[in-house]
Amino acid sequence: MTASARGKLLWRLADLIERDAEELARIEVRDNGKLYAEMLGQLQYIPEWFRYFGGLADKIEGGVLPIDKAEMFSYTKREPLGVVVAITPWNSPLLLLAWKMAPALAAGNTIVIKPSEFTSCSTLEFARLFKEAGFPDGVVNTVTGLGSEIGAALVENPRVAKIAFTGGDATGAAVYAAAAKSIKHVTLELGGKSPNIVFADANLENAVKGAISGIFAATGQTCIAGSRLLVQRPIYEEMCQRLVAFAARAKLGDPMDLVTQVGPITTQAQREKVINYIEIARGEGARCLLGGGTPDAPELAKGWFVEPTIFADVTSQMRIAREEVFGPVLSIIPFEDENEAIEIANDTIYGLAAGVWTSDIRRAFAMANLIKAGTVWVNTYRAVSYMAPFGGYKQSGIGRESGQAMINEYLQTKCVWISLAESSPDPFVMR
Ligand code: NAD
Repeated sequence: MTASARGKLLWRLADLIERDAEELARIEVRDNGKLYAEMLGQLQYIPEWFRYFGGLADKIEGGVLPIDKAEMFSYTKREPLGVVVAITPWNSPLLLLAWKMAPALAAGNTIVIKPSEFTSCSTLEFARLFKEAGFPDGVVNTVTGLGSEIGAALVENPRVAKIAFTGGDATGAAVYAAAAKSIKHVTLELGGKSPNIVFADANLENAVKGAISGIFAATGQTCIAGSRLLVQRPIYEEMCQRLVAFAARAKLGDPMDLVTQVGPITTQAQREKVINYIEIARGEGARCLLGGGTPDAPELAKGWFVEPTIFADVTSQMRIAREEVFGPVLSIIPFEDENEAIEIANDTIYGLAAGVWTSDIRRAFAMANLIKAGTVWVNTYRAVSYMAPFGGYKQSGIGRESGQAMINEYLQTKCVWISLAESSPDPFVMR
C-alpha cells in the first residue's frame, strides 16, 4: 500500500471513531467504571491521533547523502519495524491504544493488540472499525487474555519487532527483560508519583481545582495523578481547608450519570489495594483530613467505591508518598522554598509529570527546568494532546508517545550504497 493510501485509511478510521464515540464510551464505562463524561471526552478526541499521524504517513522521507566517496551513490530509507505488539492497561484502554496504533500504522507496521484482561470489550469493538475502514486483513489483530500468559507469549515471540507497553512499573520491567532476549524495540509508559506544587503566590482557587483534577478526576486511576500535593508553608493550612471543602462536595455515584464526579474503582483487587494504602498512611502517622474508607451510602454499596481521601503532614519517607496508589488518595506535603520543593518533587523513582502553581514567570521557568519529569504543567494539570510528546523520566518509562517525532519510534533507517564504479577496488581494504 502506498503511504498516501495508508494515510487515507487512518482518516477514514478517524471518521468512524467519531461516529461511534458515544457507543464506545459507554462500553469503556461498563468495562472500567470511569466516568462517562471522561470516557466520551477521550473518545471524541481519539480521532485526532489518527488524523495527525495519517497526515504524517506520506511525509516519511529518506535522503540522498552527499557521500564522501567517488563513484558511490548512497541514500537512506525509513522503513517500518514489522509486527508491533501494543499492550494496554485498564484505565484508559482506547486512548492509550490510539497513542500506539496511530503512529505504528502510519509508519506501515502491522499491529497485534493485547488489551487488559479487565477491559477487553472496547478494544474488540474498536477493532471492528478497522475492517469497516478498509484496512487489509491481518494489519490489525486483537488477542485477549491474561498478561502472564498471552501478553508474555507475545513479548517472547521472536517474530515481533516492537513492544509498545503501558502499565505498571513491575510489569514494565518484566516486559523489558523478556523483550531483551530477542532484542526487540520497546517503549514503556509506566507509573508515576507526580508532584503538584503550589506556591503561596498562586491563584489559590485555580490551584485547588488543579489539585482536585489531579487526584480525584478518574478516581485517581491515572498514571499522571498528582498524588503528591506540595504546598508552601504560608498557605498550607488554608489549602488543606479549601481542598477538604471542595472534595467533600464531590458527588460519588453511577459513572454513567453525568452529575457524578467520582466513580468507583475498576476492580475489587484495586479497591483493596487502595484501602490498604490508606491503612498504611494512617499507620505511618499521616493526618487524615477527609475520607479514609468506603462510603456508607446504601446506593453506593454495590460498587467498588472509595471515599476521596486527603492526608496532610505527609513526609517523603512515607510509603504513601513513594508508591503509586492508583486511587483517590491525596498526600499533602509542606515545603519552605523553591529549593525544598525541587528536592521533594524529585525525591522519587518516578518522573512522569508534575504541576506548578505560581504567578511568578521566573519561578515557573525555573521549576520547569529543574523538575525531572517528562511533562510539566504550569497553572494547569492533566492536559494532553496528539501534538505533545508524553512519557516518563526515570522509572516512569522509556520513549515517548504523541508528537511529530514519535513516528520515529515505529521506523528504522536503512542505508543503501550503490557503486557506480566500473571496476572493484582492492578487496583487502575497507571502502
Ligand atoms: P498492568 O501492568 O497490571 O497491566 C498492563 C497490561 O500488561 C495488561 O494488558 C496486562 O494483561 C499486561 N501484562 C501483565 N503481565 C504481563 C506480562 N508478563 N507480559 C506481558 N504483558 C503483561 O497494569 P494495569 O494495572 O492494567 O494498569 C495500571 C498501571 O498502568 C499503573 O501503574 C499506571 O500508572 C500505568 N499506566 C501508565 C500510563 C502511562 O502512560 N505512563 C497510562 C496509564 C496507566
